[in-house]
Amino acid sequence: MNKPTPLIAGNWKMNKTPQEAADFCGQLRAKCESDRAVTVAVYPPFVALSAAAQALRGSSIRLGAQNVYPAASGAFTGETSAQMLLTVGCTSVIIGHSERRHLLGETDGFCAEKVEMAAQAGLEPVFCVGETLDERKSGHTERVVGRQMEAMLSRLSAPGKLVVAYEPVWAIGTGVTASPQQAQEVHAFIRGVLGRKWNDLGMKVPILYGGSVKPDNARELLSQSDVNGALVGGASLDVDSFVNIVKAAKEC
Ligand code: PGA
Repeated sequence: MNKPTPLIAGNWKMNKTPQEAADFCGQLRAKCESDRAVTVAVYPPFVALSAAAQALRGSSIRLGAQNVYPAASGAFTGETSAQMLLTVGCTSVIIGHSERRHLLGETDGFCAEKVEMAAQAGLEPVFCVGETLDERKSGHTERVVGRQMEAMLSRLSAPGKLVVAYEPVWAIGTGVTASPQQAQEVHAFIRGVLGRKWNDLGMKVPILYGGSVKPDNARELLSQSDVNGALVGGASLDVDSFVNIVKAAKEC
């Protein structure tokens, strides 16, 4: 099967002011755009979304948010709905990132509700899964990733714009990346889960790798047959390092 256009997504986490986001986006679009060879997307914090959207107006670089709440509106202090994200120019949203699962206690079921809500609103859900180091060491990687996937799949009747990101918790922000073989193994497992649910359509869902992706390891990771892009944290905060990862994707 032909590989889909790779997606290189920059998850800024809790970094950059609106002004810094606008500056970054201005520089980014001067250096790269999404094209047939690669799709580029950035995920600024909520307060910087409008500034980023303005700086990206007319560009093919996509804009996404780092979270969404699974309700249309109402008494949910501090939360943001899918419709609100659409109004500021987001087309995509990260859901179930391990920092939200582990630091903020988000459950499989709650993350699944968010995916359903985002999909219904027409956003692209970038659904993150991944095991901790203890889970990997005890041989439970597939059990954990499988459980996270099944919870999400139970709420979604069709893949639509779904993207899955495999992010081993032990590789996020640690400088330790999964080896290309370790990534490929889990990606193939996830591909199998998607294929069993949706046959050919499921097999086409893009699966990103995330966890200490840098310009110097991106190419090898992205060359794996079931790796369709990268969700980049730390290395997405510097324009040149992010652009170099985009370039690596073009070479694969
Ligand atoms: P990292 O983060 O690239 O800094 O490891 C990736 C992520 O958490 O999405």
